[in-house]
Amino acid sequence: MLGVAMVKDFDFPSSAYVGGKWHQTPRTFAVKSPYSGELLAQVADCGEAEARMAADAAVAAFKEWKKLTGFERGKILRKWNDLLIAHQEELGRLTALEMGKPITEAKGEVLYAASFVEWCAEEATRVNGELIHSRFPNKRQMAVYEPVGPVYAVTPWNFPTSMITRKAAPALAAGCTIIVKPAEQTPLCALYLAKLWEEAGGPAGTLQVLPASDPVPVSRVLMEDMRIRKITFTGSTPVGKILYRQGADTLKRVSLELGGNAPFIIFEDADIEKAVQFTLLSKYRNAGQTCVTTNRIYVHKKLEADYAGALAEAVSQLKVGDPLDTSTNVGPLVEQQGLDKVVSHVEDALSKGAKIAAGGKPLGGLLYAPTVLTGIQPGMKILEEETFGPVAPLMPFEDEEQAIAWANNTDYGLAAYIWTKDLSRAFRVAEALEYGIVGVNDPVPSAMGSNLPFGGYKNSGLGREGGHWGMEEFLETKLISFMLP
Ligand code: NAD
Repeated sequence: MLGVAMVKDFDFPSSAYVGGKWHQTPRTFAVKSPYSGELLAQVADCGEAEARMAADAAVAAFKEWKKLTGFERGKILRKWNDLLIAHQEELGRLTALEMGKPITEAKGEVLYAASFVEWCAEEATRVNGELIHSRFPNKRQMAVYEPVGPVYAVTPWNFPTSMITRKAAPALAAGCTIIVKPAEQTPLCALYLAKLWEEAGGPAGTLQVLPASDPVPVSRVLMEDMRIRKITFTGSTPVGKILYRQGADTLKRVSLELGGNAPFIIFEDADIEKAVQFTLLSKYRNAGQTCVTTNRIYVHKKLEADYAGALAEAVSQLKVGDPLDTSTNVGPLVEQQGLDKVVSHVEDALSKGAKIAAGGKPLGGLLYAPTVLTGIQPGMKILEEETFGPVAPLMPFEDEEQAIAWANNTDYGLAAYIWTKDLSRAFRVAEALEYGIVGVNDPVPSAMGSNLPFGGYKNSGLGREGGHWGMEEFLETKLISFMLP
């Protein structure tokens, strides 16, 4: 592509993708590796002008896209899925480079991202309505589903491909068009997805990507535009609430996937070795930067010492470093602000009496040592806020009632985990937890979960992604009533 800046070592442009064209902007912003600081690309910096262009293109494309059958839309989605899988290696590398996730996890994320496209390609053909048994003998009544319209999506950096396909695949399958504003830290994966959508034959204006160093100007235009009928957001709770308020003026449909503060309760019948393996997966994956990551661990007092010792030993073995090295378990945090938050949570806990059982310090650059803290007390920040880093705080509990009360004592309600061999207790506790997702002896309940409902209670969000629940978020329901003459 002559005259268009390309991403270093990759075969795709760093321009915005607007109306089916690679669009250069007067200004650009730098995307750097959080591990090495290396410049990866100067990326188009979109503002109000690009947002207006994208809104017009999304509205124009919607008129035609919604007329295609689900079978036709599904065909293009299937091609997109095939291309994603064919480019797993490259997209995995790009993810590791721009957000710092270890390469093996990054490649796994690409498959997870593709699974939404595959599932929705099939589901596009099953958006059936309902014939309703009427109260009146001379009426025939039906409910039909229609796409809600052009959609605006705002996505985070921690899962830079799957958080986009989890929104774009159901939106496109349902017949909506979608404008994605990716996180400023990870626009490259988003642009790569757009390139593959273009290659799959996705019509101009159906999927657009607007990278921006400042999210506000793009957002303002799209949130004020009456023609954009839905906002779908994944990110922090404060930003989700801003978008929720902004959406009120044009009464947009709203889906919010927000922050969490996941408890992990380990009961006295737990197998310590398995509980440790469970913790490694649910806590240290993606350097603790997942919305469903275990944020606080409540362990029965009888097990506390043994579990803390075994966990500290296992955590000390984790290899921290270069995300491109296949032996790395924990990469860098994505940015200085994230590292500062982890440091401040650990300092706050230590100042209030916590003890370090493993790690407990920055390792240079944006790396932080995988950490286990004991002696945790109520009132520490680490129990109350989302730490979003590789730190596990442990607190002993006396009995089931206390553990449930502590677990629910938060404004968040995304994911919770328990470990027990007792089936009655498993059901009792899973039902008592005020969370949208509960893993019972399962550290990754949403793994490859394109067919499963994903979302939170309380301050963790509104609506669900995944499965038919995810598709319904992009559909309007229309009553058509026939009176027989
Ligand atoms: P963030 O809220 O800072 O940013 C998310 C997105 O919002 C980015 O694209 C950003 O540019 C945009 N944004 C920021 N301010 C904005 C504004 N005023 N107007 C419009 N857009 C704005 O969150 P983050 O730090 O990138 O992501 C981490 C958070 O996301 C964590 O809280 C995590 O739990 C949450 N998360 C939730 C889920 C879920 O499914 N529930 C999944 C992944 C991450």
